[in-house]
Amino acid sequence: MALMLINGQSVGALSGQELDVLSPVDGQKFDVIPRGDRADVDLAVKAAQNALTSAWGRMTALERGRLLHKLGEKVLEHHAELAALEARDTGKPMTTARNDITVLARYFEFYGAGADKVHGMVLPFLDGYTVNVLREPLGVTAHIIPWNYPAQMLGRSIAPALAMGNAVVVKPAEDACLTPIRVAELAREVGFPPGSINIVTGLGEEAGAALSEHPGINFISFTGSNEVGVLVQKAAAKNVVKCVLELGGKSPHVVFDDADIERAVPIIVRGIIANTGQTCTAGSRLIIQQGVYPRMMDKLAEQFSKVRVGTPEMDLDCGPVVNIAQQERVEYFLNEAKKSNIELVAQGSLAAGLPAAGYYVTPTLLGRVPPNHACAQEEIFGPVLATMAFDTEAEGIALANSTQYGLMAAVWTENGGRQQRVSKAIKAGQVYINAFGAGGGVELPFGGVKKSGHGREKGFLAMEEMSTTKTVVHYHG
Ligand code: NAD
Repeated sequence: MALMLINGQSVGALSGQELDVLSPVDGQKFDVIPRGDRADVDLAVKAAQNALTSAWGRMTALERGRLLHKLGEKVLEHHAELAALEARDTGKPMTTARNDITVLARYFEFYGAGADKVHGMVLPFLDGYTVNVLREPLGVTAHIIPWNYPAQMLGRSIAPALAMGNAVVVKPAEDACLTPIRVAELAREVGFPPGSINIVTGLGEEAGAALSEHPGINFISFTGSNEVGVLVQKAAAKNVVKCVLELGGKSPHVVFDDADIERAVPIIVRGIIANTGQTCTAGSRLIIQQGVYPRMMDKLAEQFSKVRVGTPEMDLDCGPVVNIAQQERVEYFLNEAKKSNIELVAQGSLAAGLPAAGYYVTPTLLGRVPPNHACAQEEIFGPVLATMAFDTEAEGIALANSTQYGLMAAVWTENGGRQQRVSKAIKAGQVYINAFGAGGGVELPFGGVKKSGHGREKGFLAMEEMSTTKTVVHYHG
């Protein structure tokens, strides 16, 4: 049984209750986790508060940076073990899981190196005064993370918070929390003091809600669905604490007639099938200029029909999706497409001999989806690519901006002026030109506009989000 980590101790829930952990590969139970609730969250928040006034709170930025670095090294030492755990819990192909663990280590390395580099200022002011703007931790930071990239999301969320001297309480997703628990154990081994990192597992509506409502927290980083994001923001408002919301997306590629199609097609296919489409930044809308549409669709169809789905060990292009609800969601949208007579241009295939009770879905390329159709508007969170055609640059931009989301986008064109015009006109937190989601992007400020959320994570901006300033005005004559 996996245990929570509170105040440096591995513990079950105070209530003694547990939750089953099911494998996406075959739907069978393979572990149990504590079903933490309000009482466990309360202990974790108190432990974090105590950490801030004891060993952890007294550490210098340099010392915190060294600890984060050690944790990055420890993660790399345990790379194979963590990748296997992540694949088992989420169903990811092993190559994806290995990459996720490398990125996890990178978060600890990046923010370890950054811990002593985000600092205050001395301001010019009136004669006889000295003004210092100090950079300080927020206090206890709450981190509610989803199941799609449990390892990466843990690193992305807690590494900058720890670098800035906060003590963290993490509520990982009930569907995938084994890697976050193991990483917290490794953090304890490298010397993170009791209470600096706490993990409470359990259901969202119990442990998650209790954490977001807790009066002892000073900040919330939430990554997940829009519905829950709204609840979290309401809870944060009641306690008057800041929250960063990283929510859903329906990210567009806008491909112009002059684009380098040979380069674009494999990147676009990868951008929707990676992690079986369960990626907030999945490039799920493909908006193609009429002149290149037939050629592009031929190439896409050829590649899509080669996409294969299997178990983590088979290490094919896609694994199963995380749970039965997600499987039914993808099937619902494919059914909606069929009902609307939308063309299924190409589909990938499931490997032979997959367990019947596993959560497998078929990667699908949809042709000429009406812009208002659910498949063009809603986040499916599966390997389904909706294509659309346009004539003019203005129409391409309008289509790109035609959903409630604004997380990531890509522009594919060789025309320099158009690259600039279109990337400026698209409403998104990140825009790529002739690329998409390059290299994990630990360094790149990330987050949404519109209903994709607010606040920024990754890069140095995350360290500013997860800290505050105090202006000290000193009159000395
Ligand atoms: P979810 O909102 O159901 O769950 C996310 C987390 O919130 C989980 O830990 C869950 O236990 C918790 N939770 C659930 N109900 C809660 C409540 N009432 N109060 C507090 N916490 C609660 O999301 P999900 O299905 O796990 O994840 C998929 C969603 O996450 C997608 O919409 C995806 O786009 C989004 N996502 C966004 C990003 C990003 O960076 N923008 C990254 C990954 C995933």
